[in-house]
Amino acid sequence: MRFPLLFLAISALTFNSACSQKRDVAANTAPPARTVSDKTYFQPKPVTGKPNEFPVQKTEAEWKKALTPDQYYILREQGTERPFTGKYHDNHAEGSYYCAADGNLLFFSDTKFESGTGWPSFFAPATATSLKVASDDTFGMSRDEIVCAKCGGHLGHVFNDGPKPTGQRYCMDGNALVFEKKK
Ligand SMILES: [Zn+2]
Repeated sequence: MRFPLLFLAISALTFNSACSQKRDVAANTAPPARTVSDKTYFQPKPVTGKPNEFPVQKTEAEWKKALTPDQYYILREQGTERPFTGKYHDNHAEGSYYCAADGNLLFFSDTKFESGTGWPSFFAPATATSLKVASDDTFGMSRDEIVCAKCGGHLGHVFNDGPKPTGQRYCMDGNALVFEKKK
């Protein structure tokens, strides 16, 4: 019995983390210039738990008003959408992915890859201030939760079985994202 493998399998099959749907929230951040020769990839910083760690703060009532029920479920209630039900797992267009709650730039399409999980998957965040990482011990598993670095909203999880060059797999809930096609 190889428990680590078993956990990995369970996690890959059932709880991976995020996937998609839609909702158009203002993606109000212009993507920064990036060239194909830019091979700098970033690691999210850990969540500190300090008060006011996240600059975008709203009451739960305000979040409920600002977000759709699907977005609220993922971002504020740490929900996970069902695989293959969202709109971004199969999105191959060039562009940028933003936090649905505040327009924070999260991922570029050139780091998206086919994970086969049914959730949009990336091997690196867009910037050093896109994401933060926290430990998540729910469901009897020890996983690394990924949250938006601006609002602290739940986005998905990160695993160490991703492709090169980083080896990481950011498994996101599409309901927490807004995609903007490259112009
Ligand atoms: Zn956010």
